[in-house]
Amino acid sequence: MKKVAIYPGSFDPITNGHIDLIRRASKLFDKVIIGITQNSKKPSFLNIDQRLVAAKTALKEIDNIEILSFNTLLVDFASAQNAQVILRGLRAVSDFEYEFQLSGMNKHLNPNIETLFMTPAEQYANISSSLVREILSLGGDISAFVPKSVEKLLKDSL
Ligand code: ADP
Repeated sequence: MKKVAIYPGSFDPITNGHIDLIRRASKLFDKVIIGITQNSKKPSFLNIDQRLVAAKTALKEIDNIEILSFNTLLVDFASAQNAQVILRGLRAVSDFEYEFQLSGMNKHLNPNIETLFMTPAEQYANISSSLVREILSLGGDISAFVPKSVEKLLKDSL
């Protein structure tokens, strides 16, 4: 059986922290599916098509990944994709409480799907999409936080 992991998130935008995690996970699983949430209740900075393009350009050198959007329950998306694992990133203790609750709810909804947590390399632990958006909107330098292709896309979208 192929080991498939879903890495879900808003990826608004994808950052070097996400990419570091995906690169690590791609070595552990046969396939990693990056699932970009189309959460209409949470207003996004980039629309879903822009977020998909950003992820695709940023990850084009990794083979065993797939980039999809979804607007269903995460556990339903995971089983539809035959994934056994939901992957989430932990940057700091502050991420833990929410992630612990989320994994508990998902386990309740579908006990067959495991949530696994991974941590990024130290230099990526402070990067968040929301801070990238804030720095960008105030005219700051985001080149250390996102790949060049994503930086260009973000600047074009302003
Ligand atoms: P969400 O809106 O679901 O929190 P994000 O796109 O912000 O989605 O993040 C997706 C996942 O990646 C989450 O598990 C988050 O904790 C993790 N993550 C975000 N930034 C980083 C980073 N710099 N390093 C490692 N993991 C990260």
